[in-house]
Amino acid sequence: MENNRVPMVAGNWKMNGDRSLVSQFSNELKTQQLSCTVVICPPSIYLPLFSNHDFSLGGQNVSHLDNGAHTGELSVAMLKDAGCSHVIVGHSERRESQHESSELVAKKAAQAIEQGLVPIVCVGEPLSVREQQTVEAFIGDQIKALTDLLSVEALKRCVIAYEPIWAIGTGKTATPQQAQEVHAFIRQTLNENAQGVGDSISLLYGGSVKADNAKELFSQPDVDGGLIGGASLKLEDFIAICQAA
Ligand code: PGA
Repeated sequence: MENNRVPMVAGNWKMNGDRSLVSQFSNELKTQQLSCTVVICPPSIYLPLFSNHDFSLGGQNVSHLDNGAHTGELSVAMLKDAGCSHVIVGHSERRESQHESSELVAKKAAQAIEQGLVPIVCVGEPLSVREQQTVEAFIGDQIKALTDLLSVEALKRCVIAYEPIWAIGTGKTATPQQAQEVHAFIRQTLNENAQGVGDSISLLYGGSVKADNAKELFSQPDVDGGLIGGASLKLEDFIAICQAA
């Protein structure tokens, strides 16, 4: 499909990696000719150690608040100071373990946009929801929290990642058709509720994307790239996934 959306591949290292992985990625990714936007999201303590790299950096989470008395939190200003242009918000692991609501996730996205970071907003259903065939209602609610809080202009600056929870870290990926169906639904919902935002926004798929399934997933008309967990820790695999975008 013809569109102006630039393909993107973001690597979510989660609570993995060390200084030597930082050097490996800094040194070796730049030797590759990659035509997509590449974003690496390491644990925040490693962000300032990336030097002389030609990819973008992202945080894995951010506070919705400004700098102040919030022990253990990180602000948008700090992520920017550490070299970030992007930040993941609303990952299902945080929605679950930190009880992050869709409303809080929308506040984080709003704070990121107001202060100049691109939020990669994660949405996705658990297996029970897919089995009950209520995926659209579930994802629709997660998207509604965003469209309720963010202006059309702000929404245009978001990236949304569809990550079915049952596919994360399980080796069980959504089929390209399942991914396409939900992406088309998200795009249509945004077009209806936010003046055509759906056509311009980048939608990433995440959940067990690997070097050998990336091409088929990314070739779906509404899939603009991927948010990669496990396979983003292995340089060769990650490069192969970027080349598929
Ligand atoms: P996975 O993780 O690629 O290891 O399934 C994706 C994610 O959680 O972003």
